[in-house]
Amino acid sequence: MSLSVKDLTVTYGSTVALDSVDLTIATGERFAIMGSSGSGKSSLLRAIAGIVPSTGSVIIDGVDVSQLPTHQRPIGLMFQDYALFPHMNVVDNVAYGLRMQGIGRAERLARARELLDLVGLADFESRDAGALSGGEQQRVALARTLAPEPSVVMFDEPLGSLDFALRESLLGQIRQIVGNLGTTSIYVTHDRGEAFAFSDRMAVLVDGAVARVGSPQEVWRNPETVTVARLIGHPNILPEGLGTGGPVSLPLEAVSHAEGGSHSGVVVDATFTDGRYLVTVSLDGSNDRLTFLTNDRLTIESSVDLAVDETQTIPLTL
Ligand code: ADP
Ligand code: MG
Repeated sequence: MSLSVKDLTVTYGSTVALDSVDLTIATGERFAIMGSSGSGKSSLLRAIAGIVPSTGSVIIDGVDVSQLPTHQRPIGLMFQDYALFPHMNVVDNVAYGLRMQGIGRAERLARARELLDLVGLADFESRDAGALSGGEQQRVALARTLAPEPSVVMFDEPLGSLDFALRESLLGQIRQIVGNLGTTSIYVTHDRGEAFAFSDRMAVLVDGAVARVGSPQEVWRNPETVTVARLIGHPNILPEGLGTGGPVSLPLEAVSHAEGGSHSGVVVDATFTDGRYLVTVSLDGSNDRLTFLTNDRLTIESSVDLAVDETQTIPLTL
């Protein structure tokens, strides 16, 4: 099912948490919303789910659900704090939402078992949820969120409390499972890596407003503003350009070590990574730094010359 929001606004007292957001997410699309803490990500999800009051509209497959209470919206929402019932067994936890929908016991259990199979926890159904590891609990929460077959499933920083390796593997599993089910999904995170890895398309939220929307490739190649370029981790953002002109971003590949090159500076950092050196040079006569990859082993504090391929310059606005 497709989802669109129009002019969606959330205020808490005098704080405007979400400022007239318009977004359209296609059926089956995996959509990420990335933004720093306080940018309005959770407020957006809560407004879509109807948990906080908002103005504007929320439309699911052409039907305006803005006036419906939360439980009548065909939406699943999964949080970082997944709130399983610790003394209830795994299969009953997954079936819980179905019970609330008035589905009979046999059908609930069959459906819950299907979902446990999907998340790879078929053998865990009789265990108490409280006796599982963090990653296992998170997969139970995923199964519980998906069991009622929501039209749209939303994830609010679901992996924040897990260690790095587990985050990566669970993100891949969530992505694959919602992809196989064809469920329209929204994944909210402050982590650009997660947003890029999860999404078919993404939006970058800044101060409650959408600053950029597009495929990960489009957003990476043309972030449009200095703020978005910083948020998504561009390595070389020069607020005043290279000496003249407006702000630009230079990809790693646009900069190279070349004695006699047009720019010179001092090496301030060099780390060996993936078979090459990631080097940062502080340019002479400015506060700007350039980071690039090279095969050359450059010594910290040494003076070097750099060549810049200005055809790769990405123009930005402030
Ligand atoms: P995010 O999820 O991106 O961190 P939130 O949507 O939680 O952002 O918050 C957006 C803004 O709204 C922040 O300035 C936050 O302090 C404020 N805010 C969030 N929830 C409340 C609330 N219940 N009452 C007052 N202000 C809130
Ligand atoms: Mg949040």
